[in-house]
Amino acid sequence: MPASTPLEKKVVLITGASSGIGEATARRLAAAGHQVMAGARRTGRLAKLAEDVRAAGGALEHCALDVTRRDSLESFVEAAHDRYGRIDVLVNNAGVMPLSPMADLRVDDWDRMIDVNIRGTLHGIAAVLPRMREQGAGHIVNIASVAAHRVDPTAAVYCATKYAVRALSEGLRQESRDIRVTLVSPGFTQSELLDQGGAPEAQAAARAAAQQHAIPATAIADAIGFALEQPATVDVNEIVVRPTTQH
Ligand code: NDP
Repeated sequence: MPASTPLEKKVVLITGASSGIGEATARRLAAAGHQVMAGARRTGRLAKLAEDVRAAGGALEHCALDVTRRDSLESFVEAAHDRYGRIDVLVNNAGVMPLSPMADLRVDDWDRMIDVNIRGTLHGIAAVLPRMREQGAGHIVNIASVAAHRVDPTAAVYCATKYAVRALSEGLRQESRDIRVTLVSPGFTQSELLDQGGAPEAQAAARAAAQQHAIPATAIADAIGFALEQPATVDVNEIVVRPTTQH
């Protein structure tokens, strides 16, 4: 037996790779030798990411992606398959969190969270599942949150979307014998998540808590890397990563 098994290089698709956790994950996985396809709407950010990764000797392609549209995710997966010839891993990471009390009736924000966090994740699963089943292997990593495990005021709808992501991850896991399913639930993490709308007071409170507690996005990227790099027979189903100081 060799002392250590060489790392299996994987083709990894990441949604929402233009900032925060998605970007850190793209950098982490490309640095480890995986072939990455990065998607998001801000393509200028993705171009810069690709430039950095390639300068460091890594492999990263990028593609405009709006996860609220099923056809956009299908094109994204198609582009990755054309470029790399297979799809090993999808990281369903894109997400939004405009916070507000329910009584504010910010229904457009509710819809946006449902469209990006739930529909976007489902569109991702629908786009890769047939190919992974054909391959007889694959790995879907869904990014939830500690908000998939507890509910707090001003976060009711966000929590509902993340509980949904947790439920559908567990259902998919139970139905799969050859596809691995991992749910990663971060606590406060440094990113641009709190810059995307919501009720000013609720956002300010969340920003203050994040400033006090948030851990770097690389901490979540490392957890995703850990799940990916396990042997094919090992399915890491759930990882919760909180700042030590978060209750
Ligand atoms: P960021 O705002 O930094 O990143 C969110 C990413 O999602 C961006 O790349 C954004 O790209 C992308 N995105 C948003 N809408 C769409 C869309 N319609 N189509 C494609 N991409 C989209 O925040 P985080 O890195 O924090 O968020 C990543 C995930 O982590 C989310 O699911 C979030 O809920 C989760 N999370 C974050 C925590 C935190 O404390 N930061 C804690 C728990 C969970 P673009 O705008 O360019 O399209």
